[in-house]
Amino acid sequence: MDDKIDKDITRFLKYVSKEDGDVGCWRWTGSKACTGYGNFSYKGTSYLAHRASYALFNRNKTLTSGLQVSHSCGSRDCVAPHHLSEKTASENNGADKRAMGRDNGGEKCHTSKLTWEKVKEIRSSDKSSKELSSLYGVSKSNIYAILRGKSWKE
Ligand SMILES: [Zn+2]
Repeated sequence: MDDKIDKDITRFLKYVSKEDGDVGCWRWTGSKACTGYGNFSYKGTSYLAHRASYALFNRNKTLTSGLQVSHSCGSRDCVAPHHLSEKTASENNGADKRAMGRDNGGEKCHTSKLTWEKVKEIRSSDKSSKELSSLYGVSKSNIYAILRGKSWKE
């Protein structure tokens, strides 16, 4: 048994506002990327909150890389495990797919603030630049610039 996951779940639920008990959406009240998705850190890494929710409430399931966690309710800030399912990019026709398309330009994300702490997380992460882009709310070109040391020079 993994006791630590229960602590992570307890901590996770502090950032959740349940709209309609166990059937409605769970609104994320913690920190959010400019893309509208929540952020949650556990096991030393920062995750999109709905992906963290899917993994935590499925007893620490390992997310299949390449699969997206999709919302049946279409609300990006919802982290209700009963509204989430793993889908391939082509199966995912809901809000998340539209969100992905919209966020590729990163135009809305220019105001988001990075810190040295986040830059270091980005540089030490093994996630793809696409994932990092949505996780930190910065455009992919910004992520490339950070990874290549063209911005945020030490
Ligand atoms: Zn929902």
